Amino acid sequence: MRRMNKWFGGVFKELMRSMRLSIFLCQCPLCGKDLVLEGEESVCRECLGKISWIDANAPVCPVCSRPLGHESERCGECLTAPPLFRKHVSYGRYEEELREIILRYKYGGVEKLKHLLAGFYVEVYQRKISMCEPQGFDFIIPVPPDTGRKREFNPVLEIVKIFSKRMNIPLLHEYLVKVKKTLPQAGLTRSQRLNNLNNAFRLKSSSFSLKGKRILLTDDVYTTGTTIKKCAELLIAEGADVVAMTLARSI
Ligand SMILES: [Zn+2]
Ligand SMILES: [Zn+2]
Repeated sequence: MRRMNKWFGGVFKELMRSMRLSIFLCQCPLCGKDLVLEGEESVCRECLGKISWIDANAPVCPVCSRPLGHESERCGECLTAPPLFRKHVSYGRYEEELREIILRYKYGGVEKLKHLLAGFYVEVYQRKISMCEPQGFDFIIPVPPDTGRKREFNPVLEIVKIFSKRMNIPLLHEYLVKVKKTLPQAGLTRSQRLNNLNNAFRLKSSSFSLKGKRILLTDDVYTTGTTIKKCAELLIAEGADVVAMTLARSI
C-alpha cells in the first residue's frame, strides 16, 4: 500500500511538473498572458497590436525610411550625405514591443520568437520591396556580428535563414565579414561612428564577383545607419546594387 502511494505521489508530481511546463510555454514572453487565441503562437495579439509599424502610407524618406512629418523628396540626412545603397526599409520603430521582442530573442533565449521575426522580414519585403523589384535579388548578405561572436550561435542569422528559405533567395553567408571589434554605435558623434567602423568589415577574397549582382543587405536594427552604409559601400565598390532591409529602425 505504501509503495502504491509512493508511486501515485511520483506520478502526481510529474503531472504537475509537466502542467507547469506547458503553462509556462504558452505564455506571452512580453506580458505573461496565456496564449489561447488562434494565431497566438509566440506573442499575444494585444502585444503585437502595440507595435509601431513604419507605415507604407505615412510619409517616410524614400531612401532610408525615416518617418517624416510631411511628404518630402528625402530626409535632411539623405540630402546632405546621400547613402550609397538604393533604399533601406524597416518593419517597425525600434521601441517598446518590437524592441522587447528582438531583445528577448537575441539575449533572453526565447528561441520560438525567430519565426515571428522572420515573418516580419517577409511582411516588410512583400509590402515595401518585392513590388518595386520585379527582378528580385541574387543574394541576401547579412551584416556580420562582432568578431568575438562569429563562431558562436548567431541568432540574427537564424532569422535570415528562415526568410531566405521562404522567399527562395540564396543566402551568401560569411562573404561579408567583420574583422575589427567595435564600440556600440549609439551615443557616438557622426565622425566617431565613421572612425569606429573604419576598416571594420571586409569581403572575403575569392574568385566570386559581385559585379552586376542585386544584393539584399539585412540586419536586425538600423540605429544610426552607419553600419549598413559601411557594409553597402564595400558591396557597391565591387559592382553590386544594394537594397537594405531591417526589422526595426531607431527614429
Ligand atoms: Zn503579450
Ligand atoms: Zn533619409
